[in-house]
Amino acid sequence: MERDERIRENLATVRQQIADAAACSGRSAADVTLVAVTKYVDTEVARALAAAGCHNLGESRPQELWRKAAALADLPIRWHLIGHLQSNKARRTLPLVGLLHSVDSTRLIHELERTASDLGIQVEGLIEVNISGDATKHGFAPNEVEAALAACANCAHLRIQGLMGMASREGDLDAAQREFASLRELRDRLRRTVSAALTLPELSMGMSGDFKVAIREGATLVRVGSRLFDGLSL
Ligand SMILES: *Cc1c(COP(=O)(O)O)cnc(C)c1O
Repeated sequence: MERDERIRENLATVRQQIADAAACSGRSAADVTLVAVTKYVDTEVARALAAAGCHNLGESRPQELWRKAAALADLPIRWHLIGHLQSNKARRTLPLVGLLHSVDSTRLIHELERTASDLGIQVEGLIEVNISGDATKHGFAPNEVEAALAACANCAHLRIQGLMGMASREGDLDAAQREFASLRELRDRLRRTVSAALTLPELSMGMSGDFKVAIREGATLVRVGSRLFDGLSL
């Protein structure tokens, strides 16, 4: 099968699975945004995905996002940075990014506010929460998120739209579902305790192996990479 046809078919399959998972939990497919993670593929494959109608693309490394965003500047793509952003790359990255899923430290919060203010832009972000408790992973511990939100409340150029999390082990769907549920419950608790104005509508959770259970637990953004490239020789 031709490459672009395979991509269209994979995209249609994933979209159908998203719709089915949403319907199963009484949600609308329109409430779940597919972020296609293009970190494994070159610019031309990313272009084919956009041409097939997928306009939310995610990268985990800032430099790769810069490269692809420049090459695909003619397309109406909303870029998502889903990996760690070093402070010294903020200035170049923020103008390109529609949503930063990885607000993962207080230091970065201050850097984002400073840089966005300098550039005269608004940054949309998600607080990354280390829901698996794996010490090698980035993100705030669940009990640190309230303080992180308090720090963001003083940042006029940073709008926090919700929370992002990753499940601990691939293949253990029960554990993933528990971890995603814990992220949703944390969000619901913060809504009640922090401020009525803070609705935190977005929950970014779920990847190729676990996006269906993530949708069941309330994901509004799923970050799917490898599943979209099944059958392609990369
Ligand atoms: C790579 C990556 C994904 C996509 O993973 P797949 O299993 O290939 O779907 C999602 N989220 C983050 C943070 C990633 O780094």
